[in-house]
Amino acid sequence: MDLQVIATGSAGNCYVLRAGGAHGQSLLLDAGLPIAQIIRAVKGWDRIVGCLITHEHQDHAKSAVEIARRGIWTYATKGTIEAINPANGPLKPAQLRSAKCLQSITIGDFTVIAFQTEHDAAEPCGWLIRYDPTDETVVYATDTYYLRHTFPGVHYWIVECNHTDTILQQQLENGDLDAALRTRLVKSHMSLRRLCDALEANDLTETRAIILVHLSDERSDEKAMVEAVKEVTGIDDVWAAEAGETYQLRLTPF
Ligand SMILES: [Zn+2]
Ligand SMILES: [Zn+2]
Repeated sequence: MDLQVIATGSAGNCYVLRAGGAHGQSLLLDAGLPIAQIIRAVKGWDRIVGCLITHEHQDHAKSAVEIARRGIWTYATKGTIEAINPANGPLKPAQLRSAKCLQSITIGDFTVIAFQTEHDAAEPCGWLIRYDPTDETVVYATDTYYLRHTFPGVHYWIVECNHTDTILQQQLENGDLDAALRTRLVKSHMSLRRLCDALEANDLTETRAIILVHLSDERSDEKAMVEAVKEVTGIDDVWAAEAGETYQLRLTPF
């Protein structure tokens, strides 16, 4: 598998999870950019069989309806769909499809399950994704200050690491961050500390790689985050996602 990062962070999130080599299928993870930009950036548009949306915020769902209108099965929770489409009336069949948390859905060669996340949105979710031909399993969790579930047998994690508590505290003391925004951040986005706790709560025996996403521009420290996650998990392949990069996800190191 590999993960193409088209955009990551509060200005837009869009990723392509590509499985099965040159002729395999792909999933779009979030669609938080203008549609033309997504189509231009995606390598292998005709291989995309589905799109998974985490919540209605524009940096994740800007083009969700446009993607669905192009015939790609696009899933979100009911609450997210209603929040995306308040003025559009009843959805047409070609538009967004509703996913219930903890119920599995088959999309081409993938089986996906939405799970509840903790964010200031209507019904946010993350996605547990399995590529059935190889059983490779991925967790995609972003815009959540906490993970209430643990996940057995995950090979690859695509998880938010938004800020560090140290930087937040420094900015608060320097007057660079007001108390209300700090409160919002710690109740909506994942800190390094909480991510480490969440990863430690899981059995990582099968884990091969961890990709940190949605880093804050002003309140993250990429190097320190990568090092801290490596240390806590014992996993060598930990990367901070950068727009335009593609990350190889392999079960074996060769
Ligand atoms: Zn976001
Ligand atoms: Zn959000």
